Amino acid sequence: MTRRKKIYEGKAKILYEGPEPGTLIQYFKDDATAFNAQKKAVLEGKGVINNRISEYVMTRLGAIGVQNHFIKRLSLREQLIKEVEIIPLEVVCRNIAAGSLATRLGLPEGQALPRSIIEFYYKDDKLNDPMVTEEHITAFNWASTQEIDDMLAMTLRVNDFLSGLFGAVGITLVDFKIEYGRIFEGDFSRVILADEISPDSCRLWDSATNEKLDKDRFRRDLGNVIESYTEVAKRLGIMKDMPRVIEGGVS
Ligand code: UDP
Repeated sequence: MTRRKKIYEGKAKILYEGPEPGTLIQYFKDDATAFNAQKKAVLEGKGVINNRISEYVMTRLGAIGVQNHFIKRLSLREQLIKEVEIIPLEVVCRNIAAGSLATRLGLPEGQALPRSIIEFYYKDDKLNDPMVTEEHITAFNWASTQEIDDMLAMTLRVNDFLSGLFGAVGITLVDFKIEYGRIFEGDFSRVILADEISPDSCRLWDSATNEKLDKDRFRRDLGNVIESYTEVAKRLGIMKDMPRVIEGGVS
């Protein structure tokens, strides 16, 4: 058996060389980290659920014209993706105050924001992913003004679409983080959605009870992490594709 070449290993995913040029294999680990990896655990089954949820969300986004890196699922934990040049930014979109925004501005968690707010963070673990403005982004050449405009427009579309997608199954999209990358076509490059969209990267609250169904269950030691991720998959109607081991959570 030939071993695939590892291109990059992050906290929750590994990227391997793909079968063709311009492709990569994205492997979803069960590892969970929070607070810049100060808190760590292995949550059995998380990689399988996130692989499936991210596939579903990216596919639905692709269908409305939000271009993204997803090509196809390869196995329980792996998907084939387009190779992109990652833009070193985390793009956060918020609808309701929570997490670092609630802390920073002294807002009660759960307060609806006057409108959706998009923020940029510079991806650098050593610096704890500091928040940056468009000034920093263009001055340091992390992205051009055109790329920033494209990311802002795409992020709002993602937010509108996902708010509806989750809202329809009784889940409130509080906030989420996405990442973008460039693909090159001749002399031109285009910004497409990359990374993942899953309960690891979104705040998802049960619309009726405000119960958290996302990574805050891990960050805040609320328990039932896998059960909550499973609930999200169930509501999206994609549990039938999941192996039995995940059903009802791993106990
Ligand atoms: N987020 C993420 N990765 C990060 C930081 C944030 O996926 O490294 C997501 C987080 O799950 C939430 C949103 O981005 O859905 C906003 O996070 P926030 O700034 O409130 O940070 P946190 O509370 O995680 O410190």
